[in-house]
Amino acid sequence: MIELIVADRCTDCGTCIEVCPANVLDAGQGGLPILARVEDCQTCFMCELYCQADAIYVAPDCDRRVAASEAEVLASGRLGQYRKHSGWDEWAQHYPNEQWLMETVFRRAGEAAARAKATSADVIGTK
Ligand code: SF4
Ligand code: SF4
Repeated sequence: MIELIVADRCTDCGTCIEVCPANVLDAGQGGLPILARVEDCQTCFMCELYCQADAIYVAPDCDRRVAASEAEVLASGRLGQYRKHSGWDEWAQHYPNEQWLMETVFRRAGEAAARAKATSADVIGTK
């Protein structure tokens, strides 16, 4: 699940908000995204992948949040690793891009989850 955004690195571009298929992030004051609905996170890493500032840390555990401080994450060298190894942006010449299909897959999953949620709310509302 998404754990944190390093404010000092964030350029307030808003891309992570746009690409998140589960609508986890909201624009905060001054543009810095806030983790508004972490419980909806699908651990898809799209926000990390699209963040050219390498400001987002998504932990691999998809069931629960893990305690991770900004200092630990910065020291771990994990920030930007996924984008790098996916061969995006400045890494295009160094690593093959194998993520070009996953965006569609995760977007569809997000849409399906939203539909299921809406249907469930309708059913509850009719009882
Ligand atoms: S994509 Fe990265 S730099 Fe852009 S708003 Fe999100 S956290 Fe900040
Ligand atoms: S990991 Fe995926 S679902 Fe979670 S906040 Fe990032 S883009 Fe959204």
